[in-house]
Amino acid sequence: MISTALIGLGANLDNPRAQLERALEALDRLPLTDCTRYSRLYASKPVGPQDQPDYVNAVAELHTHLSPLALLDQLQALEQQHRRVRLRHWGPRTLDLDLLLFDDRSIVTPRLVVPHPEMLNRGFVMRPLADLLGPQKLSSLSNENLEMLAQRVEGDDLLPLGPQE
Ligand code: ATP
Ligand code: CA
Ligand code: CA
Repeated sequence: MISTALIGLGANLDNPRAQLERALEALDRLPLTDCTRYSRLYASKPVGPQDQPDYVNAVAELHTHLSPLALLDQLQALEQQHRRVRLRHWGPRTLDLDLLLFDDRSIVTPRLVVPHPEMLNRGFVMRPLADLLGPQKLSSLSNENLEMLAQRVEGDDLLPLGPQE
């Protein structure tokens, strides 16, 4: 059975825009998985420690035959390929891939909590998600509530990035 997964991407080291663009291509090449759509890129202020560069964020929609945990394994392998080093919690990173939503499932395991517990509090997640919640509905997600929430998010520290920047 095919599932719809929403992935939050973030990077703030080593040319974050290029990291995100490479990651979007890599997501499309994952086994049993297509990247069907993705949002524009946004610049945002860091969560947690402020003494680190701004982030670039986006959200991607995947169609996948992988299970949620198998998809998490793939996302973590991609983070490793981008040479992510965990120095401190919420510290700078070359690539962060969070599994935001997986169909309309609720998952609570030691390694994986879906929906991502912080997504509703984060403009840099909800604003790009709102881009994807436009006229074309996210297939197999009951997203009316999300759409309402996304419209309420101000995204105060968010800056949409244009193609030439
Ligand atoms: P935050 O989760 O607040 O965005 P973070 O992305 O910096 O913080 P990480 O260090 O990337 O946190 O991940 C810590 C752990 O979170 C991972 O090892 C992973 O097993 C777990 N985790 C739980 N739920 C999820 C999810 N929905 N997506 C990605 N990782 C998750
Ligand atoms: Ca994260
Ligand atoms: Ca993460």
